[in-house]
Amino acid sequence: MGAYYDEIEIEDMAWDAEKRVYHYPCPCGDRFEISRSQLKNYEDVATCPSCSLIIRVIYDPLDFEDEPSDDEEEEEEEEEEEESESDDEQFVDALEKLSIEEKEPVLVAATA
Ligand SMILES: [Zn+2]
Repeated sequence: MGAYYDEIEIEDMAWDAEKRVYHYPCPCGDRFEISRSQLKNYEDVATCPSCSLIIRVIYDPLDFEDEPSDDEEEEEEEEEEEESESDDEQFVDALEKLSIEEKEPVLVAATA
């Protein structure tokens, strides 16, 4: 590898949200590119895909240590069961109704 074409601070580079890379214009008309994962892995060389030039990216690796994963956090839905007491009340009512309707044995007077 030859010498760096230039040293560029990360602040001077542009962020491509679609390709998820930092880029900087290359004199050949293309652009130098370096990804966040590269930065996270302490790689500081941005390369141009169209020519052999490379630049050194000046940055603080600590800024990329906490690179969040692309996994979306799953939201836990709490399902609260509503315990209605209507069933119990209905049960009690039914019991009371039963006892009321319970007929006492009726002694039928026998006519002699
Ligand atoms: Zn180039």
